[in-house]
Amino acid sequence: MKYEAVKNYYNGQFFESAATESLDVVSPIDGNLLSRVPMSPVGELNAAVASAKTAFEGWSRTPIKERVQVFFKYRYLLEKNFDELTALVSEENGKTWDEAKAEVEKSIELTEFACSMPQLVSGEILEVSKGVECRTEHFPLGVVASIVPFNFPLMVPNWTMPNALVLGNAMIMKPSELVPLSCLRMAELLKEAGLPDGVFNIVNGGKEIVAGICEHPDINAVSFVGSTRVAKIVYRAATANLKRCVALGGAKNHLFVLPDANPTMTATNVTASMSGCAGQRCMAASAMLAVGDVDPIIDGICAEARKVVPGVNLGAVISKAAKERIEGYITEAEKAGAKVLVDGRGAVVAGKEKGTYVGPTVIDHVTPDMSVAREEIFGPVISIMRTKTIDEAVRIENANPYGNAASVFTQSGGLARYIMEHASAGMVGVNIGVPVPREPFSFGGWNDSRFGANDITGKSSIEFWTKLKKTTTKWNPEAGINWMS
Ligand code: NAD
Repeated sequence: MKYEAVKNYYNGQFFESAATESLDVVSPIDGNLLSRVPMSPVGELNAAVASAKTAFEGWSRTPIKERVQVFFKYRYLLEKNFDELTALVSEENGKTWDEAKAEVEKSIELTEFACSMPQLVSGEILEVSKGVECRTEHFPLGVVASIVPFNFPLMVPNWTMPNALVLGNAMIMKPSELVPLSCLRMAELLKEAGLPDGVFNIVNGGKEIVAGICEHPDINAVSFVGSTRVAKIVYRAATANLKRCVALGGAKNHLFVLPDANPTMTATNVTASMSGCAGQRCMAASAMLAVGDVDPIIDGICAEARKVVPGVNLGAVISKAAKERIEGYITEAEKAGAKVLVDGRGAVVAGKEKGTYVGPTVIDHVTPDMSVAREEIFGPVISIMRTKTIDEAVRIENANPYGNAASVFTQSGGLARYIMEHASAGMVGVNIGVPVPREPFSFGGWNDSRFGANDITGKSSIEFWTKLKKTTTKWNPEAGINWMS
């Protein structure tokens, strides 16, 4: 075992869990055992929440200009430990070095946004009647929770933690049991940056801890990122317990490819979108709507896909179970009559035979009823559906229950605008394979890709992590009294 067993973290200290059950943490790159993660009992969540509740008292009363100083230092520490964090993300998640590096870079960018919060939450003031002022202020919620998935062990925790904490909350983080190591390092860096003990806490575990979070009377808000199946469980449980909740779910992102699209740019962008992070991105291209004759572009995508080589410029998928699930989808589509143009099944990387790899896969002549057309595969697979018209393609996209992202490849501004308006997705791209909105814009899908009123990052997150106080003031007794005052 390369690292010591994963501990919980609260009150500024690491604690060995009293859990009777633990799971192996295995590197998808080569199948090596990295650590073991405890399935903590709910009592440990209670201890963490108690420590957060105490810390909240002082932290929430610290002026935001001072709170933000911790995050300037945290940002510096992310940079200082850049290579080590990159290696850790790659090791526990299976990403390539460049992908893991991008995850650390994005974590830095997210922290920079959090550092700009004092400029964004200064509140408003208006004289609403003669001598009478109304003023608004953002107040933190208290103890909040963040439940995160396996596919971005560092970036997704940094979607929530810096904003929530800068805004004055104390947090319980529940990492994915598949990749718990990056979060632990985050806790160490926050402590080094000067964050007061108890403001950030980690409780490792599975669904019992998640249920405990949704039920805990001292947790006021729950953010969740993961699959739609679990997002629904969490959203229902948290809101049934009268908590504020935003729950981001899975995705089935459609790319519309029109015959006038730039062939080279389209082929490279589509391939990068479907194969980047081994297809394990909620923004990954998963279905392609080929409108009219786009055969030369499909040939280009196949040529690009063949340049993506497992273990070289393609990382591993998270587990053996994930590899089997992804390959099962491809086999099922083939049996149902689809044509596998580039086949990533059975990928093995020499010297890393226990690693879990799936090569890039391009499946053509998929029909909308096939499971590869409807369901999230979460692997480096693109399912191509042929349509005669744009409206037929729009109908297919609109019928899918997800709604995270959609993109169109065309050189026509009018057609791009038409698809941008008609796609049923929260994040839309024009000639961009992965249309992630960068801060200050916010991240969040529609339909079954997000439950709750807010997006999770950017300006929208301010509304999620704070409550507004409205104060009406009159100091001048000489001001006249009318029905408004
Ligand atoms: P997951 O839903 O299996 O797990 C997410 C979290 O929920 C983990 O911390 C896990 O421990 C916990 N969990 C799992 N089963 C649970 C249950 N039955 N009850 C309560 N908690 C449970 O997701 P994952 O496999 O870790 O991540 C991949 C999924 O996340 C994909 O569907 C992907 O699209 C989605 N995702 C979405 C976004 C987004 O922004 N919409 C971003 C990243 C990932």
